[in-house]
Amino acid sequence: MPLSSSRRPSTPVAIGGVLMGGNNPIVVQSMTNTDTEDVVRTAHQVADLARAGSEIVRITVNTEAAARAVPEIRERLLAMNCDVPLVGDFHFNGHKLLSDVPACAEALDKYRINPGNVGRGRKRDEQFSTMIEIACRHDKPVRIGANWGSLDQDLLAQLLDDNAKRKDPVTLDQINRDAVIESALGSAVRAEEIGLPAEKIVVSCKMSRVQDLIDVYKRLGNECKYALHLGLTEAGMGSKGIVASTAALAVLLQQGIGDTIRISLTPEPNGDRTREVIVAQEILQTMGIRSFTPMVSACPGCGRTSSTYFQELADGIQSFLRDSMPAWKQQYPGVADMSVAVMGCVVNGPGESKHANIGISLPGTGERPVAPVYIDGEKAMTLKGDNIATEFQQIVENYVESRYAAG
Ligand code: SF4
Repeated sequence: MPLSSSRRPSTPVAIGGVLMGGNNPIVVQSMTNTDTEDVVRTAHQVADLARAGSEIVRITVNTEAAARAVPEIRERLLAMNCDVPLVGDFHFNGHKLLSDVPACAEALDKYRINPGNVGRGRKRDEQFSTMIEIACRHDKPVRIGANWGSLDQDLLAQLLDDNAKRKDPVTLDQINRDAVIESALGSAVRAEEIGLPAEKIVVSCKMSRVQDLIDVYKRLGNECKYALHLGLTEAGMGSKGIVASTAALAVLLQQGIGDTIRISLTPEPNGDRTREVIVAQEILQTMGIRSFTPMVSACPGCGRTSSTYFQELADGIQSFLRDSMPAWKQQYPGVADMSVAVMGCVVNGPGESKHANIGISLPGTGERPVAPVYIDGEKAMTLKGDNIATEFQQIVENYVESRYAAG
């Protein structure tokens, strides 16, 4: 892939069985929104996220009961044949939970520590040290995850004081960006001094505004070699969350910055949590960085399409491809790179279809009720009648079997 060669060099880190950083592929991760004390629901959501393609899943560990639930969640996942690495998200009481519940410290594959939520003053240093020492003892990696919404208040106060004494003070936004970077990198250096090696450290500086995130990560990319976890925090709901995340991440990924990504979408009430995984995969795949599932190109439709038939066909085929991938991944190596085109009429239909592995042009308004199918650039057959969708799906299946079966 053209971009992988220009990746920023970073120190590789192993999270359970997943390697990130260095020359390893950019890893997709996500986070549950269940109450971790609810073992059954949390294990099921972790499994759903993993099935959707999340290669690492983070869970909240906020109470002693949640910490005690972690080994049970791990057991349940193994019983479901799911060995996705689990990350514990700790704030305020992580030092206590990890000390009091060693089985939780052992069951997790990584700890996320927010240096702004570890404590104040001397307590902060002690509590941070405790968590890092536990990570060393259990041989676990740590993400030092700073967030501008929960900045280290002592550090921020210091930077504001220093700024007030300058002849040319900088803006508050600039101070916030400096503070988040200094908090993350200073904590990472401190973790190394305590004994955690660089190959056990991942760093993130989450910001909620696109330009802030780009600025901060460009600087992180220049100033450190730690593996970087990339994501826009509090991205928001629906299209706004997707667009803002994509705008920020695309700029950084294009510059080779980022070793793992998470898309922090706010789901609709009772919405599907796996949406954030699909968006992360689609960002990487549409940028040509990494393939996860065959992609469907479809035209937007216009006055030439008098029904929703072609939209339904495009949607149905994309769902079919995505649902088939967990099995196809093992059976048909390379199938993730396959492209499928579903077009609404003959204006651009045949041309687009010829560029895809398989393409279909449905009849537009006033056109003959036939749908030519192109395979590898050649017209292969014409479908007509009421079963075009089913027949086209079968053609796609046959193509996958014949083209990718031998790898
Ligand atoms: S391919 Fe046909 S239906 Fe689709 S947008 Fe173009 S003209 Fe409209």
